[in-house]
Amino acid sequence: MSELIPQPSCADPEDKNRLSIDAARQRIASLITPLTAWQRCPLRDALDRILHDDIISPINVPAHNNSAMDGYAIRSSDIANDSFNLKQVGIAFAGQPFEGTITTGECVRIMTGAVVPSECDTIVMQEQVSVDDNMITVHGKHPKGNHVRYIGEDVKTGDIALSAGRRIVPADLGLLASLGIAEINVTRRLRVAFFSTGDELKSIGETLATGQIYDSNRYTLYGMLKRLDVDVLDMGVVPDQKDLLRQTILQASQQADVIITSGGVSVGDADYVKEILAELGQVDFWRIAMRPGRPLAFGQIDNALFFGLPGNPVSVMVTFYQFVTPALRKLMGETEPDVITFQVTCTDAIRKRPGRFEYQRAILFKDDDGITKVKITGGQGSGILRSMSAANCFILLDEKCDGSPANSLVTVQPFSGLI
Ligand code: AMP
Ligand code: MG
Repeated sequence: MSELIPQPSCADPEDKNRLSIDAARQRIASLITPLTAWQRCPLRDALDRILHDDIISPINVPAHNNSAMDGYAIRSSDIANDSFNLKQVGIAFAGQPFEGTITTGECVRIMTGAVVPSECDTIVMQEQVSVDDNMITVHGKHPKGNHVRYIGEDVKTGDIALSAGRRIVPADLGLLASLGIAEINVTRRLRVAFFSTGDELKSIGETLATGQIYDSNRYTLYGMLKRLDVDVLDMGVVPDQKDLLRQTILQASQQADVIITSGGVSVGDADYVKEILAELGQVDFWRIAMRPGRPLAFGQIDNALFFGLPGNPVSVMVTFYQFVTPALRKLMGETEPDVITFQVTCTDAIRKRPGRFEYQRAILFKDDDGITKVKITGGQGSGILRSMSAANCFILLDEKCDGSPANSLVTVQPFSGLI
C-alpha cells in the first residue's frame, strides 16, 4: 500500500505555514492581468456587463432649467412680504415651452418638467396660490430658486458620467439613456469551465446507491457564476480517475479563461490531482487560516486560471465568495467594490476557537422593537448547505476571537451585494 502524503484538510487541528485570507487574496490578485478585449454592446444588453471606457457626457442633463413642481414660474424681484398678486400671461407644459416674454408683475402657469422661462427664477407650488381668473395671489415664503431643477445639475457636458470598470446597474441604463447613448463598450465576457470531482457523486436524475450523493456544488457554482455574468461551461462530474481528470482539465484549459473544480484537493485524494496539475501547469496548494474553506489550489494551466476549491458544499461557496469572486472581477476589468460590513448585536452565543478566521452563516432580522439584529443559522458544519440557503449574511470572526456570549456586538457581511 502506498503511503498517504499528508495534505491540507478542513480537519487539521492546526496549520503550520498557513496563509491569511488577505495574503491569499493578494497573491491571487498579483497573478491576474485584467483582460483588455472589449465589444460594442446595445444599451439594454449592457446590464451587468463591465464598462470598458469612461462615458463622457455629450449633453447637459437637464438640458434647461425646469420646474420640479406644478405651479407658477415667477420673478424673485416680484416677491413681496406675506402675499402679493401677479398676472398669469401664459402656460408652460413639459415639452411645450412658453414662447412669450414676462415682465414685472407677471408669471406663467408651469407644469413639472417644463422649461422655466428665462425671465423667471423661482417656482411657487400651486397649493400656495389662490387664483381669480388670470390674476393669482401668492401666499407664504418663496426663496429665490425654489423648486427649480437647474441645467446640468444631474450631469454636465464633458463630465465623466460613468467610469470604466463599473458593473452596469439598472440606474446606469437610465443615466446612459438620459444622455442619448445607445451603445457602449464593455469588456468581453469571461468563459468559465467548472466540474465536480468525486466517485461518490451522481447527477440529478440518476439513482443513488448506498454511499452516493447528488452533486450540489455544480449547481451552487453555476448560480454564483451566473450572478457575475460570465459564460459558463459545465463539464459535469468527473470520477476520481487520473486519466479522466487529466483529459477534462486539458479540455477545459483549451476552452475557458478560468477553470474551477470542487473536491479532490483534501487528504486522501490529492496525490494524483496534485500530480496532474503539476504536469499540466503551475498550481500551488494553499493552506488558508479560515473556516470553512481550506484548502485551496490556485494557479495556471496554459492560459487558463485554475481554482481547485474544497469539496464540502459550504466551503465551496465561502471560498468562491472570498477568493474566486474578487479574482474574476479583476480579470474582467471590474473596479473592486468595497466589501460592506457593519456591527450588530447577535442574539446567540457564538462558539469558536482562536486560530482561524471564521465565516459563520447568520440571519439579519428585526426584533419585536424593530431593531436589526443577527442570529446564527444553527449548525455550522461545512457540509450543511441549508445554512447557506437560510442565511442572509456572514458573521466575520477574526483569528483571535474565541467566541462571544449572547447579545454581543459582531461584525456582519450582508449577502446583498455579495451574491
Ligand atoms: P473532498 O474535498 O473531495 O474530500 O470532499 C469533501 C466532502 O464534500 C465529501 O463529503 C464529499 O462527498 C463532499 N463533496 C465533494 N464534492 C461534492 C459535490 N460536488 N456536491 C456535494 N458534495 C460534495
Ligand atoms: Mg472527493
